Amino acid sequence: MDKDYTLVTMQKQKSIALIAHDNRKQDLINWVENNKETLRKHFLCGTGTTAKLISEQTQLPITAYNSGPLGGDQQIGSRIVECKIDFMIFFWDPLAAQPHDPDVKALLRIASLYDIPVATNQSTADFLIASPLMEATYERKIIDYAKRISNRAEEFGKDEKMI
Ligand code: PGA
Repeated sequence: MDKDYTLVTMQKQKSIALIAHDNRKQDLINWVENNKETLRKHFLCGTGTTAKLISEQTQLPITAYNSGPLGGDQQIGSRIVECKIDFMIFFWDPLAAQPHDPDVKALLRIASLYDIPVATNQSTADFLIASPLMEATYERKIIDYAKRISNRAEEFGKDEKMI
């Protein structure tokens, strides 16, 4: 194992965040409906409006965070940091600017940093859901923050001494 990384085990039962921008909501609902039997084996959550519509139209249990423009993306990002969400399907709209574009960018950044599987379009979502790893444990490789912070503090200390 690389010394700057730590492994986090994803369980067989995953915690999946579902998010869709307005023009993509129906596509995500249809995708969830088509993959209902697989998805019901996992824990589902989503941004407010997306979660409400999925719950109404598919009857799957799903935890709702705030609506995306009201901070829902940031809430999901914080759960990824806490390793409480480990998988994300995010049908974002590449043709429309969003009032919360900075939050969207931050969420995608955090998802990359924490090495969680992310689908931002339907074909990727189809490949992910068909993966045998959906039914297996998996070791995610994430940065060892304690070590990185301590190294940075050491470097900063050296610079201070040089002044
Ligand atoms: P919504 O948020 O599910 O509340 O519409 C999604 C988003 O725009 O990020």
